[in-house]
Amino acid sequence: MSVDDEPHIICFKHCSNHVFVLKVPIRCPLCNQPLEQCEKFLPFSLPYPFSNASQSPCSVVLRPAVGDFLSDFHNNTNLHIALTDSQGAIVEFDSPGLLRTRNADRKLWGQCLLILSVPEAWFYHWDSTIQRLIEEQGWQHRIYDDEKLNCYSFVLAFLRLLLYEPIATFIDNAETFSRQLIVPKTTQAAKYITIYRRIKQFGILSEPDLL
Ligand SMILES: [Zn+2]
Repeated sequence: MSVDDEPHIICFKHCSNHVFVLKVPIRCPLCNQPLEQCEKFLPFSLPYPFSNASQSPCSVVLRPAVGDFLSDFHNNTNLHIALTDSQGAIVEFDSPGLLRTRNADRKLWGQCLLILSVPEAWFYHWDSTIQRLIEEQGWQHRIYDDEKLNCYSFVLAFLRLLLYEPIATFIDNAETFSRQLIVPKTTQAAKYITIYRRIKQFGILSEPDLL
C-alpha cells in the first residue's frame, strides 16, 4: 500500500450529524444540500493511526500475524510484535527464529501500530542494545515457542536491557506491557477500523451530532 493508498477518513458536520466519508461529496448525502454553499462546512481528516515500520526507526511495531489491520483485525486477532533499528530494518523473533530484514515487505509492514519510539539521541544506544541482546543473550540460537518464547518475549527482553525510563514500570511482565502500551493503541485503531469498514460497506457513516 503506497502512501497515496492510505484511506483518509474525512469527517464533516451537516444537518445535525457528523458525516464520515472517504471523499468529500458535492452534496450532503443526508439532506442533499450543496455543501459548498454551507458557510460552516469545515471537513477534517481523522488521524491515520498506522505507520510504515521501515520509515519508523528505533521503534516497537505491531501488526496482525496474518493480513493487515484495516482488512483483517478483530478482537481475537493474533498480533505480531517486532523492533526496527535506526536504519528501519525489522528485527523480530518469529517461528523461523531471529530475523533481521532490510527493505521489509510493505504489504506486511506498511500498516503497523507504533507502540513505542525513542528520540534520536537514543538511536545509538538502541542499536547497540539490539546487538547486545542478540550476542550476549544468544537469541540467534533460541527456538521459537508459540506460548513460552515468542515475539513478545524477544521485545520485552530487549526493552528490559534498554533501560528506557518512560516505560520502566510497564515491562515487568507481558500483562502489564500489553495493558499499558498495546491495548490503548489497538483500542484507538479499532475505532478507526470500525468507521473505515462501515464507510466501505455503506459509502458513508453518519452519527447524530450530540453537541
Ligand atoms: Zn446535510
